[in-house]
Amino acid sequence: MALDVYEPCPCGSGKKLKFCCPQIADDMERVSRLIENNQSRQALHLLEQLDKKHPKNPWICTSRSLVLLESGEPGTARDVLAQVLQAHPDHDLAIVLYATAMVQADGLDLAKKAIHRAFQRSAKKFPSMVGGLAGAMAAVYQSRGHMLAAREHLALAMRFVPDQERQDIFVRLLEFDHEASIPYPLRSVHPLPALNGNEAFLTESKKGLKYAFVGCWNTAADIFEKLAQSQPSAELWHAVGLCRAWDGDEPAAAAALHQAAKIYPETGLAVECETLAQLLDWNGTSHRIYRHELTGEVSSLSRLLTQLDQSERLFRVELPPAGTYEGRLPAAVYQVLDRQRSEMAAPSDVSLENMVHVLGMVTLEDRDAETQEPALITVEAMVGPKFDETVSLLKQVAADLVDWDNTSEEAGWIPAESATMSWQWAWPTRTPPLVRRRLQAARWQQIAGEEWFNIALAALDGRTPRQAAGDPSSAVALTAAAYVFDSQCLRGGYELDLDALLASLGLSPLPPMSVTPETSLKSFTPLQWLRLPLEQLSDEQLSAVVNRALLVHHDRFLYRVLKLAVSRPQCLTGLDQARIYQTLAELCRSHERRAETYQWIQAGRTHASTLPNSFERVWSWDLRELMTRLEDPHDPELRPLVDRIIQYYGPKLPQLRMALADMLDAAGLDPNWVNGGLVTGSTAAVSPRGSGLWTPETAAAAPSSAAGSGSLWLPGQ
Ligand SMILES: [Zn+2]
Repeated sequence: MALDVYEPCPCGSGKKLKFCCPQIADDMERVSRLIENNQSRQALHLLEQLDKKHPKNPWICTSRSLVLLESGEPGTARDVLAQVLQAHPDHDLAIVLYATAMVQADGLDLAKKAIHRAFQRSAKKFPSMVGGLAGAMAAVYQSRGHMLAAREHLALAMRFVPDQERQDIFVRLLEFDHEASIPYPLRSVHPLPALNGNEAFLTESKKGLKYAFVGCWNTAADIFEKLAQSQPSAELWHAVGLCRAWDGDEPAAAAALHQAAKIYPETGLAVECETLAQLLDWNGTSHRIYRHELTGEVSSLSRLLTQLDQSERLFRVELPPAGTYEGRLPAAVYQVLDRQRSEMAAPSDVSLENMVHVLGMVTLEDRDAETQEPALITVEAMVGPKFDETVSLLKQVAADLVDWDNTSEEAGWIPAESATMSWQWAWPTRTPPLVRRRLQAARWQQIAGEEWFNIALAALDGRTPRQAAGDPSSAVALTAAAYVFDSQCLRGGYELDLDALLASLGLSPLPPMSVTPETSLKSFTPLQWLRLPLEQLSDEQLSAVVNRALLVHHDRFLYRVLKLAVSRPQCLTGLDQARIYQTLAELCRSHERRAETYQWIQAGRTHASTLPNSFERVWSWDLRELMTRLEDPHDPELRPLVDRIIQYYGPKLPQLRMALADMLDAAGLDPNWVNGGLVTGSTAAVSPRGSGLWTPETAAAAPSSAAGSGSLWLPGQ
């Protein structure tokens, strides 16, 4: 493409090319042709020559740095750009390229100043590149576990990027808010509070807000903090806290938010700030329980497997069938039990009293033919007696078949305060999902009913919730601790009765938000959503709440919201009704309200029968009912349902019998039910699972989906 000499010069001077850099135009055209033809080496060579003849020309230097970045040489690109910025400090493109090169060469922390300069200077002309920087920072913060910073950088990227790129960032935001492993008080929006004061105050605070708007949160926080020191207010400390958190400085954020919580006149905001502060404190706590792993090289995998299988303290975990799990499956996984395998109860007899605990995990990897990596064994457990016992047992069982590493390595940690909520059981093979769920819930009830009250919490100055109850000066911290616990219960799949918990501490629930039909709910915080007076909302508002609740998936709130929505036909018409009935059925199923589960399945089926393509839709509800009933092999309705399904769908769906037999088999039932009890040639060949019948939720059919395992595949859970 020939350059137009009457267009602005690509060097960024603002002059026309003809009157600016015409002497390099021909050579630069050659450079772009070389780049188009993927001849970046030749392009670089030519650019270096040009650079010598015309030093610090921004057109040459930015082109050269782009090629260097593409070729994976960010360090050289950074140095080239540093030179051009010396001569042209306000060059928009050089500024954003310099920040990009610095992030890649030196990492986010060293690059932060350069990035903030790009946020301030280059966003107008290069929105896509600047938005990309913000998006990349979000990913780094998320990987570090700095969730508030991650989310706010995504929101910032949304503000920067041009319209056509907004969709991708929007999807990342939705995924973030939906991510069940992130405590829910950290998901959703946290708006800066309104800051009021005299004229001098407003001039300064507006400056802070401006910095905050373009993502320079450390500068904004400095401004707010200076103001707060001369005229302290809850709002200012709140703003300092949020800005520090968005900047990734969690200890400083927590300190400011604690401060705001102490002086906020409104209890709701005080508790919100304190809840955030407590969650941030956990991220930075030094009271941790570490998980360590010890690895060793295996000389003969088959002999080792034989020996491990023979150990009474090891329980081999059933792995998912080949092809159903993405990535390479280990050769074998074992749980290290706290007692003999023979002491495991039968699936029908397991109880809280006789559950066998898992001390640690053992993973075996086969030799990798491609990389020549030898076969490996990895032993993992919480540091302390569990780890010591696990390692000494394995060293004894594996004897001379393993050459162990000298030292173990860190493989994660949990805050010591949450140790009670972290346990692992060894389930007897084929324990029905229903039994697992009931037992998990029973364990959570023990914690929520008693044990949590006796955990000494740093947030309560080392006192237990029971000790802090009744002390009015601890009311905010204690309420916040209850919310933090609520978020842990949610992650563990347990539906906590928060109001009852608060009442048993002598605390009242937070008051409902005041809402008029005109109130926009967009800027509500995670805790404010939970406080909405649902019955008072307009249909339009309730629809917005339904979508938000489905996204964040706070079980207790979601259930209340959906139940109200189905009672308002006006509200339902604009919503995905099938999804609402499915979610209600799913919520009731996972919290063991089985009778109600079937009511919602029936409601969904009735609704489906009124729609086009009702055959598939109704079938998917029948299948859902079957999967749910299969969880309880003693359900008297199960056999009649199987018979009905065979009679009705059998003739239309030829693979059905086979697939049903597999499901029955997987649930520990007699696969011959599908033939009305008759053994035939076709059922004899039925066994290998997954005969390929399409189901809307094949995942739910897997017997391994116990509550509390989250999105992680946990061997044996
Ligand atoms: Zn020029």
